[in-house]
Amino acid sequence: MKRRLTNQVRIGELRMGSDYPVRIQSMLNTDTMDTEACVEQAIRIIEAGGELVRVTAPGVKEAQNLKNIREELCRRGYTTPLSADIHFNPAAAIEAACHVEKVRINPGNFADKRATFKELSYTDEEYAGELRALREKFKAFLDVCRAHGTAVRVGTNHGSLSDRIMSRYGNTPEGMVEATMEYLRVCRDEAFDDVVISLKSSDCRVMVEAVRLLARRMEEEGMRYPLHLGVTEAGEGEDGRVRSAVGIGTLLNEGLGDTIRVSLTEEPEREIPVARELVECCEPCYRENPPVLEGRWSRPVIVADISSRDCVDEDVTAALDFHVAAEDDPVRGDLLEAGPSAPEMIYTEALGPELTKLPETVWVVVPYGNVDLAHVYNRRAVALVPSAEYLRLREPLTGDWHLVEVRGMDEWTPALVERLRRDGNAALVLNPVRPVYMAYRQLLEAVAAAALPARVILRAEAGGLRGESLSLRLASQLGGLFVDRLGYGIWLSVDDREDVAVGLRLSRDILQAAGVRRYKTEFVSCPGCGRTLYDLQSSVARVKEAFGHLRRLKIAVMGCVVNGPGEMGDADYGYVGAGNGKVNLFRGRRMVRVGVPEGEAIEALRRLIAECGDWEDKR
Ligand code: SF4
Repeated sequence: MKRRLTNQVRIGELRMGSDYPVRIQSMLNTDTMDTEACVEQAIRIIEAGGELVRVTAPGVKEAQNLKNIREELCRRGYTTPLSADIHFNPAAAIEAACHVEKVRINPGNFADKRATFKELSYTDEEYAGELRALREKFKAFLDVCRAHGTAVRVGTNHGSLSDRIMSRYGNTPEGMVEATMEYLRVCRDEAFDDVVISLKSSDCRVMVEAVRLLARRMEEEGMRYPLHLGVTEAGEGEDGRVRSAVGIGTLLNEGLGDTIRVSLTEEPEREIPVARELVECCEPCYRENPPVLEGRWSRPVIVADISSRDCVDEDVTAALDFHVAAEDDPVRGDLLEAGPSAPEMIYTEALGPELTKLPETVWVVVPYGNVDLAHVYNRRAVALVPSAEYLRLREPLTGDWHLVEVRGMDEWTPALVERLRRDGNAALVLNPVRPVYMAYRQLLEAVAAAALPARVILRAEAGGLRGESLSLRLASQLGGLFVDRLGYGIWLSVDDREDVAVGLRLSRDILQAAGVRRYKTEFVSCPGCGRTLYDLQSSVARVKEAFGHLRRLKIAVMGCVVNGPGEMGDADYGYVGAGNGKVNLFRGRRMVRVGVPEGEAIEALRRLIAECGDWEDKR
């Protein structure tokens, strides 16, 4: 187990960095002026195991009230550090630094004006002038932090970069890194070391790329600040957990990350056990110069594993989204067609006539000993053969292609590589005995080093895992590999006799979170905080109910108009709280309806989607 080496940062009584466990944190969603509500919620987070509690401070008066919250928590015996979350308001940051143990500032809006998202061009002088102003303002803030022993988080979000940064780097991982480095260089020059950094996005690929790039850039410039990881607007339920596991888990497995927050649109204390389990199931392995793998699979297939069933009957095919193509059609009979969520491949150990009905687009994987019989039922049968058996086979396997399963580096022998090199019909199934991220990565590196052009399917056996543990573990171990486009297919062997489609659903969620397939409407929603201007959880539920069938769309539900529009990233539509029971609606980044009463907002969004040509009726 090895994490990237970092400085130790002092946050009140808490120590953070590579010498300490990965710290777990969450954020209040109560009104910062409501001391009692904040204290109650902070206690729930702390009792659940939160080691740091973040509170928003939109203005100076909220920053002043942090003092009351801090004092009341201490009076009740809770000394867990507090972190103030500041946007747009250096005065509030300075005030907060006097009262709490840590202050988070956003480089996109600490010294720079709110981004206009217009294409602006800066002369070198203008650019340098803004940098000087930034340095001056930030230095003044650091002086106050130093005087009070307050730590700082430089927290950059994709979607809230300044015009200046976007003019040179665009809204990209490079832009996020440069925006952060501008502030870190001030910290280094001022010898201010109690600094933690975050680079967040609702897009796992952007977030993973940005953090990796920042780690390299810091290495080059001799900086060792700890990293805070999070996927913004991850949403709620299974989607929020899988998306967080793909983004945060990938980086933890690569040894990056010293504190995490899983942002769910749920009660904040519910984030803590999810974060704890995520930390526990990752196995950090930091490598300074890992080989660069060129991913090439941008639309991976799914292998649905139904080997727990003794027969492939109608219930099983229906659960996999295969349905009779045309009822009462004498020509097509009871042939099946694939629905939008159906897998491209199935793995079964049971052979029977139902296999004849499967659509011609589906491959049927069977143990290699059964492949000849399987061809009687379905000519698209594909043999799965363990690597040791494969090396012993004298006759070529029948069928268009076959799968060779490799369970670890000890099976990756020169003899196997040589045989694969001569076999143009073999694809690989990498199924390490311990399905951990680095085991897959090592096997993928070996395949790349051998320059084999074979398709690579990544298989994981879930053992007895169920529910949230299953989702977190498999998404954190496999998700990053799909973020990097390294898998031709995903195959989850989940032994659930009750629900044959568990593995299929999780496969879809992982591929969607990795940004390589789209199976359902992508909802992003912020977790809410003291700025939230309506009941976020029930709004998310209503929006999901109304628009959950629009598979091609990404819809954001955000709590406030201050940060919501910037942070909803590349969503197609936005539903954003505007206060006083009103909602603003966005088409992309453009605000197109202002102050719609909440009771009418769902219908207004439906009309807007229809006007833009994106509406489809529910089937
Ligand atoms: S977008 Fe949501 S989490 Fe972010 S500041 Fe607004 S209400 Fe808070």
